[in-house]
Amino acid sequence: MSETIFDRIIKREIPADIVYEDDQCLAFRDINPQAPVHILVIPLKNIATVNDLTAADEQTVGHLYTVAARIAKEEGIAEDGYRTVMNCNDHGGQSVYHIHLHLIGGKALGWPPY
Ligand code: C5P
Repeated sequence: MSETIFDRIIKREIPADIVYEDDQCLAFRDINPQAPVHILVIPLKNIATVNDLTAADEQTVGHLYTVAARIAKEEGIAEDGYRTVMNCNDHGGQSVYHIHLHLIGGKALGWPPY
């Protein structure tokens, strides 16, 4: 598995505005926010894409969602609502090949996203 910029954030080799961390995941503010709240929740384990998930990752991926929901409450966007997105590969708009859950909110979001 090749190292990505997110591995370097996990290792604190490059800075990030970290809002949450535990023994399974790290959450930090997106460097190029698309909404007033834009946070990435990433597993510490480097899984390149959603296509690479196995049954052994189910708990980890579920944990990303419960952490996103917790952060949404802390950020004050839970009641109005928000979006969680995991992009996959080129057509999905993935640019960093270490899976990450986008938590996006703080304004009314458009749909569909194209
Ligand atoms: O889903 P996708 O792979 O395109 O998302 C990657 C995200 O990582 C982008 O929203 C980008 O702004 C963010 N990023 C970041 N900090 C970095 C590099 C990328 O927040 N150092």
